Amino acid sequence: MSDGNLPDGLHRDTLALRVAIERSQHGEHSEALYLTSGFVQPDAETAARRFAGTEAGFTYGRTSSPTVTSFEQRLAAMEGTEAAIGASTGMGAILMMCMGLLKSGDHVICSQSMFGSTLALIGREFGKFGVETTFVSQTEVGEWRAALRPTTKLLFAETPTNPLTDVCDIAALADLAHSVGALLAVDNCFCSPALQRPVEFGADLVIHSGTKYLDGQGRVMAGAICGPARLIVDVFGPIVRTGGMTLSPFSAWVVLKGLETLGIRMQAQSANALAVARWLEAQAGVSRVYYPGLASHPQHELAMRQQSGVGGAVLSFDLGGNSAEAARARAFHVIDSTRVVSIATNLGDTKTIITHPGTTSHGRLSEAQRQAAGIGQGLIRLAVGLDHIDDLKADLLRGLDSLK
Ligand SMILES: *Cc1c(COP(=O)(O)O)cnc(C)c1O
Repeated sequence: MSDGNLPDGLHRDTLALRVAIERSQHGEHSEALYLTSGFVQPDAETAARRFAGTEAGFTYGRTSSPTVTSFEQRLAAMEGTEAAIGASTGMGAILMMCMGLLKSGDHVICSQSMFGSTLALIGREFGKFGVETTFVSQTEVGEWRAALRPTTKLLFAETPTNPLTDVCDIAALADLAHSVGALLAVDNCFCSPALQRPVEFGADLVIHSGTKYLDGQGRVMAGAICGPARLIVDVFGPIVRTGGMTLSPFSAWVVLKGLETLGIRMQAQSANALAVARWLEAQAGVSRVYYPGLASHPQHELAMRQQSGVGGAVLSFDLGGNSAEAARARAFHVIDSTRVVSIATNLGDTKTIITHPGTTSHGRLSEAQRQAAGIGQGLIRLAVGLDHIDDLKADLLRGLDSLK
């Protein structure tokens, strides 16, 4: 069956396999990869119409290309949005969104627990252009309400957060945004559309780092914005064309192949994460486990409602310690005792990754800022992959068993 014939109402797992397959004249079953920077025009008249935008057709790779278009259509189908636009990285997508929505004098409300580069981009770089940002608690809706101003244009959140997995109430934030005519954007990197579709709760825009679960195997950098066509086509389209944060066809093709297995990976990795989280809760030497799938998580019920009943694949745990130095020594001992999992700062991979946030992703914060964020030196983040659960437990036990 060709793509144009797909019936309505297909399930997300089927959409992930079937939407927007680009086939060449050879009829290959797998998606073709069109690696080209430019496109030959049949004649000068056609070229003129395509450049003027009065006729559909590809012109130049920075503007759009067939493999990138396939990725955009498939991701939009999976998020349940009218359209999507690719970007070279997740941060490229966030830059494009901010350039499209904000101007001098505008105000943004942003969770203070967002991805570090997002905080720096909005607070520092856009601050230089006269955009004002208020950073508020991830979980206290009252702080978001109190921060609203007549000039507020954008509310931006990410859920669950890295590394403490705090969950925000998407529907409540969407209502607040709309009460002042602002938009709510949600960075859906940690759940992916397999678990959480923010537009179903009223969000206007969904941001993705395709580098994480969408690819899922740590091969390429990619990003995207999903949302209504009036914003994707008319506001963000011109920015990617002129600004050049374009997604490469090769990366788009890799992520398209990643989307095919996204649903089954998220289910399997989340099941592994839940098993590890429950097991860690019972280990002597572990003072606290942070995972939305645990009943002990402060926003457990909200997370289960928003995330298709699944906790996701990222968890953190704290080993405690009498001082910051002692806590760090305990965490380093557990990390360095592993022989299977990878010591890295990335996430969203089939290979399990172990990270010490206090000296890596959050290492540039002062000790006081880290304390305020709740990121102690005894904290370890685990981005759980598809490694067998027994091997994961044994790998962690090597260090936990010999903690001093
Ligand atoms: C990694 C990440 C990003 C940035 O994505 P890149 O592809 O690395 O630019 C944005 N948000 C979240 C939540 C992330 O984890």
